[in-house]
Amino acid sequence: MNILITNDDGIFAPALARLKEALAPLGRVVIVAPDRDQSATSHSLTLHRPFRIHTHEPDVYSVDGTPTDCVVTAWYGLLDRPPDLVISGINHGPNMGEDVFYSGTVAAAIEGSIQGAPAIAASLATREAADFVEPARFIARLARQVIERGLPRRQLLNVNLPHRPWGEVRGVRLTRLGSRVYRDTLVKKVDPRGRDYYWIGGEDPVWQELDGTDFHSVHAGWISVTPLRLDLTDEPARAELEAWNLVP
Ligand code: MN
Repeated sequence: MNILITNDDGIFAPALARLKEALAPLGRVVIVAPDRDQSATSHSLTLHRPFRIHTHEPDVYSVDGTPTDCVVTAWYGLLDRPPDLVISGINHGPNMGEDVFYSGTVAAAIEGSIQGAPAIAASLATREAADFVEPARFIARLARQVIERGLPRRQLLNVNLPHRPWGEVRGVRLTRLGSRVYRDTLVKKVDPRGRDYYWIGGEDPVWQELDGTDFHSVHAGWISVTPLRLDLTDEPARAELEAWNLVP
């Protein structure tokens, strides 16, 4: 069993080592992670410049690229055989609702799924200092189940863990993606040379408190496991669009 761990927080994120320790009994664990924080880089791929791989110790590599670069690199040459399971995380911060589209953590798991391995994206829902030992143990237990049961092709699991003392975690809920209330702002300022610059800002995300969603469950102290599928096709919409006059 070859397990690939990656993340978008970078090679020095403490969660990587905790996850490696927890997964070690399941097989060979290889870390390939970006050499710096690549949060919110989504599914970007480095195509317009070369990138380099740095070996930190056996089976621990960093790449001066994106989380997706890490998975692709592991697949096509860095490892002697492709991974059997990809785990991305544990991210230091939540990845729920529409944020899965911005998340480098989720994107790396999606890339693993595209390449043909079962994949898990894992996130701890806090930006405060955190201990990843118990979350890593939970992800290892989940990984064991994924190895035993498998996952359908082009499906992955998006896991968000609540940040509270482990004894106060209420259990696991299978959830759907929630919905964020957008309060992003575009800040416009002027640089010292008189040119305009912009910064995407905004407050911490606010979410609709809908029962059964990832956000609602994590907020109430449950571990949220959301199965995601890669096929975004809206089948009912295909039928509706048939009524449009799209003759060229
Ligand atoms: Mn991150």
